[in-house]
Amino acid sequence: MHELALSQDIVEMLTRLAAREGINTISRVVLEVGEISGVEPEALAFCFDAATRSTPVQGAELCIENIAVVGVCRGCAANFPCAGGLAPCPQCGAYGATIIQGAELRLKEFEGE
Ligand SMILES: [Zn+2]
Repeated sequence: MHELALSQDIVEMLTRLAAREGINTISRVVLEVGEISGVEPEALAFCFDAATRSTPVQGAELCIENIAVVGVCRGCAANFPCAGGLAPCPQCGAYGATIIQGAELRLKEFEGE
């Protein structure tokens, strides 16, 4: 259940950010979850709910945005979508693209007052 540890990290970070910005209650949280981040959005939502108990984040609406996998070709430097990182470059056909997006779990934004 690494989603639980991740949720606790996110809630801790939100709690710190809220304190710094003078926010008492966070009402909405937007997370970006990459397709190959290894995070299961449903499990994350479940754990997030549990991790927010007795924090300023409790009751906040959680929005999860899925981030598609994008690679950059080592041959011609083209950017292209490559789920799983195994697709050949559509420009030159080379394999072995470097993944530049899709493995992240990131706090995009939050709202509160
Ligand atoms: Zn290429």
